[in-house]
Amino acid sequence: MPPADMSDPRPTGSFKIGGFDVKFPNQPYGVQFMFMNKMIQALQDRKSNALLEAPTGSGKTLSLLCAALAWQVKQKEVRSAALKAALLDERAAMNRLDEIGLVVPEGLDTVEDEELFLDDPAGPITGHPFSSTNQKVLGAPKQQGTSSLLSKLSDEPQVPKIFFATRTHSQISQVVKELKRSGYKPSMAVLAARQHYCINKAVVSSGKVDEECDLLIKKDGFGCRFHSKDMRMRNVPQVEVHDIEDLKSTCRSAKMCPYFGARELSARADLIFCPYG
Ligand code: SF4
Repeated sequence: MPPADMSDPRPTGSFKIGGFDVKFPNQPYGVQFMFMNKMIQALQDRKSNALLEAPTGSGKTLSLLCAALAWQVKQKEVRSAALKAALLDERAAMNRLDEIGLVVPEGLDTVEDEELFLDDPAGPITGHPFSSTNQKVLGAPKQQGTSSLLSKLSDEPQVPKIFFATRTHSQISQVVKELKRSGYKPSMAVLAARQHYCINKAVVSSGKVDEECDLLIKKDGFGCRFHSKDMRMRNVPQVEVHDIEDLKSTCRSAKMCPYFGARELSARADLIFCPYG
């Protein structure tokens, strides 16, 4: 099989593979079709593991990413549709109670059509449907009835996160390059050790990043100017597809620690890169 050519002029688009619409930046070779097909079969089966092998240069990284993300997007579409149907059913039931003069639980009668909008399946993957963002869309927190429905529905199976592990940190950058080519823009995070993420020059030059960082940020430590006790998600700069260096650069501008930022991002990410070494 010829190696994947980065300057391949063939058309981009979406391809039906294993019953799924898979975005791929060029016409896949036969072996890439087979690779993605096997991958999707294994994901659909859910009871078996897959051990797939392909030679260097065959485009297996891109194939792995595209097949896994296509499958995940579909799971989100299915789940969003199920949640929307459940909410509509609940509202119809409340309307019937209202019609026959029974009391409608507070809040449920105010759920409007536009509030039933969940993740847009065609758009970027945006995280768990019960994330704080989507709860805002649903108007859930202040509505007792809707909250109970949400809590009931949250027992439903979650859309699985994808973990992509490489042997080294530098290989993560190569994989992220492929992700940038893929056309997919999942919510993502790269987990790596502090020595790869730290942007405090004094700490980095000490050569003992973990120890020095722990000393600074402990309760009675001097503190690190990039670290804050309020490093919650809403404070982490929004970065689309990124590698370690991209996040470091963004966090340097935002004066925020990229190591703790990446940990926050990973809590809501659909795709997590990490080294296994
Ligand atoms: S908080 Fe972040 S930037 Fe500060 S020392 Fe620790 S790892 Fe480095």
